[in-house]
Amino acid sequence: MKTPVVEMDGDEMTRVVWKLIKDVLILPYVDLKSDYYDLGLPNRDKTYDKVTVEAANATKKYGVAVKCATITPNVQRMTEYNLKEMWKSPNGTIRAILDGTVFRAPVLVDGIAPYIPTWEKPIVIARHAYGDIYKAVDGFAGKGKAELVFTDDKGEKTSLNVFDFKDNGVVLAMHNTDKSIESFARSCFNYALEVKMPLWFSTKDTISKKYDGRFKAIFEKIYNEEYKDKFEKAGVEYLYTLIDDAVARIIRSKGGIVWACKNYDGDVMSDMIATAFGSLAMMTSVLVSPDGIYEYEAAHGTVTRHYYKYLKGEETSTNPVATIFAWTGALRKRGSLDELPELVAFAEKLEKATIRTIEGGEMTGDLVGLFKKDGVTPKKLSTEDFLKAIAKRL
Ligand code: NAP
Ligand code: MG
Repeated sequence: MKTPVVEMDGDEMTRVVWKLIKDVLILPYVDLKSDYYDLGLPNRDKTYDKVTVEAANATKKYGVAVKCATITPNVQRMTEYNLKEMWKSPNGTIRAILDGTVFRAPVLVDGIAPYIPTWEKPIVIARHAYGDIYKAVDGFAGKGKAELVFTDDKGEKTSLNVFDFKDNGVVLAMHNTDKSIESFARSCFNYALEVKMPLWFSTKDTISKKYDGRFKAIFEKIYNEEYKDKFEKAGVEYLYTLIDDAVARIIRSKGGIVWACKNYDGDVMSDMIATAFGSLAMMTSVLVSPDGIYEYEAAHGTVTRHYYKYLKGEETSTNPVATIFAWTGALRKRGSLDELPELVAFAEKLEKATIRTIEGGEMTGDLVGLFKKDGVTPKKLSTEDFLKAIAKRL
């Protein structure tokens, strides 16, 4: 390796899995250069969460990071870890610094069929992670008139009539910014070019003419001015369509699509897609910033229930696939940026070995019930034995 990957360690069972992946699958084969940050909750607390900011800044500097799942503290964690403060979600902090879009992609394995039989290739959801109902204000209205007032920076007021209430009801106001929508658009276009998959973007602009219309127009402008030539050269398609049409097309499709969704649509659809492809433990996630910085992770959390078993000395069977693919994603990216074909090849081989191990019938407990393949009886392995089985194939 020439340039280090930024390595962000995490919590609980995924921290255990993290070390095993490195010991069993990476360090024996790769002369790993990593810029290490311990984002485990005890260290975040010790450093007043400065370590999270440092890790995000290092990611800005080097361009590629790999992150382990981390605890987002709540009231119960305050006492469990004796915390100084209820620290914010590390992913939220990192996202705010890198200003990116999150892409979630399933890992497909022969033997674990998606619930939609026509889906042969992954469907990647790109969720806009700012604004709309997640930053909305809402409230009750009684009999009377609801108005929306905009005061410009010179004090000039414009108002819109929302509704004349004859009786009780509710009102909601939400916003987004051109800057955030532009970042979202560029991240989506960059990602689609990177993976050479068609990009679909959907909103409901026929109904929400100004609000969703703005999303549509910003995507169109950026596409035409900055990406059209690149897409045509790469043979990658960009399609804008209505959200209901997109849903129908996705279900009928063979997959192999990047589907860019507004915040709420992405929230809802990513859970549907993850479930339809089989398991959250097989879902990878990458944060792509508009200036081309990549942070790879698993989509699942720290698998707390398994960790408590592990602490009691009981055997665990925790699925490491999404975390392995976070590592291979980061190493492949580093390899292609630094022109290290051996590193790119290693990432590909490790992914293939992982998939073939499962296809050969060796897997973790969560997959056993989902696996159906003629002539192969699925066998449940412990966390460590599954990693060793992959290493053997590798
Ligand atoms: P979770 O860690 O994703 O686990 C929920 C359940 O899903 C597990 O109990 C397990 O089911 C199953 N599961 C998830 N990943 C698995 C894997 N790799 N292998 C096998 N089974 C797996 O979600 P959570 O329990 O709601 O959250 C735990 C902690 O993770 C929280 O503190 C939360 O803040 C944090 N979190 C972090 C991130 C992140 O860093 N990106 C994301 C989400 C949550 P069974 O118990 O039935 O086996
Ligand atoms: Mg959701």
